[in-house]
Amino acid sequence: MTIDHGYPAVRMHIAGEWCQGGSAETAPVENPATQETIGTVALATADDLDRALAAAEKGAEVWRETSIAERTAILHAAADLIEERAAEIGRVMTLEQGKPLAESTGEARRTADTLRWHADDARRAYGRIIPSAPGTVLTVRREPIGPVAAFTPWNFPVGGPNRKISSALAAGCSLIIKASEETPATAAALVACYADAGLPAGVLNLVFGEPAEVSAHLIASPVTRLIAFTGSVPVGKLLAAEAGRVMKPSLMELGGHAPVVVCEDADPAQAARRAAQAKFFNAGQVCTSPSRFLVHESVIEEFTAEFVRAAEAITVGDGLDQGTRMGPLANERRLRSIQRLTEDAVARGAKILTGGERLDRPGYFFEPTVLTDVPDDAELLHEEPFGPLAPVMPFTDLDEALRVANALPYGLAAYGFTRSAATAEKLSAALEAGILSINHCGGSVHEAPSGGVKDSGYGREGGPEALDAYLITKRVSHLLAG
Ligand code: NAD
Repeated sequence: MTIDHGYPAVRMHIAGEWCQGGSAETAPVENPATQETIGTVALATADDLDRALAAAEKGAEVWRETSIAERTAILHAAADLIEERAAEIGRVMTLEQGKPLAESTGEARRTADTLRWHADDARRAYGRIIPSAPGTVLTVRREPIGPVAAFTPWNFPVGGPNRKISSALAAGCSLIIKASEETPATAAALVACYADAGLPAGVLNLVFGEPAEVSAHLIASPVTRLIAFTGSVPVGKLLAAEAGRVMKPSLMELGGHAPVVVCEDADPAQAARRAAQAKFFNAGQVCTSPSRFLVHESVIEEFTAEFVRAAEAITVGDGLDQGTRMGPLANERRLRSIQRLTEDAVARGAKILTGGERLDRPGYFFEPTVLTDVPDDAELLHEEPFGPLAPVMPFTDLDEALRVANALPYGLAAYGFTRSAATAEKLSAALEAGILSINHCGGSVHEAPSGGVKDSGYGREGGPEALDAYLITKRVSHLLAG
């Protein structure tokens, strides 16, 4: 493992320096494919967090005073470094998160592109001049909100942190980011690209620690002006409440339980292949992963047969091995949850068509699994599975399927398959989700916004909307001096 600032000892980045925490305390980092400890990550004390806050406060001043041309040039240089180092970043990501190497390096390459897109979009963060009374200039300005406290999980170890970092920096904000302690070397490798590209000290600070302590400390500080979180609904609600107590805005990218509605006029085999591809991507550990398959009774047999074939064709293994299409689950918590959801569904009468078991080898491997006859009260149909489980349910009436699709408090992604333009329009209007794909399972793209409704959160990442949370809108009315 050769990556700078990575294993065997991942450090934090505060005020432009790579450092251990003041207490020298560390946490072990595990390879989920082998369950071996591969290194350690430095953990922050309250004093370290205060240093990061002071650095971000200074960094915000420096960065907002940096010309847009210089900012954009630094961000493009960072993107070039991410691309140059994609293979190295991908390898570290696979070691600590488990996904296949092709997915890891692909994620790193897409991350470089996302950064370029946001860097360029920042040039268009226009205000406006509004017609007003003679002698008065009425303008609306958009200004960086100030230092951001960001928290990101382990499922997209480089893409996740970078969505927040690239939007915040493009908007002219500084950041303190607490990336996941389970995938710290990937986050450190990302931050190293920004530092090596010439980002001024203090503009981007990376910390690790006890998540609840770090978030409470950073949210309570008057220095931070925005809380940006990606993770589970319960933690998101907790952090949004903490932010609300100190009247801070927050950006919440939370979980989902995405319905897939396959209509009677869809091509069931094609729908099954596309849905299975999306289902087992990153072992199902994606907030937009399709997770409830509602299929018209007239096509369910063909859909299910093809879906099972696609699931059985997936090679599960160590992400570093050539030919692996699906790696292990990222940690033991995930494996336990997936086993619990499967056992609960079976105990209530569900049938397993394929999969259903942990692999008999070290590592948190679980088979791609397809279930039928899953009763309405199974936990799997209510709790976000975040793993390779695909429950397939029949429907006869589209309105009833839409009622079931919308019945959960989640509202992140949804998918529909139909050949009818009228039905596609009906699905688009009716499905309660922030991200909808028709006739495919579209992944996230940096040109367009992603985000949820209902319990899945608020605010958008990607697209021109990505800058909204990081900019404040200021009205300036200027009566020109006589
Ligand atoms: P979790 O809720 O314990 O943690 C999710 C993330 O939030 C982790 O990165 C964790 O470090 C962080 N976190 C937890 N408590 C925190 C706190 N008080 N302050 C700041 N950060 C905190 O869940 P988990 O076991 O890591 O993952 C399981 C669930 O999380 C999944 O079922 C899924 O619903 C959700 N999840 C969602 C996403 C997403 O992209 N929206 C990503 C990862 C996990």
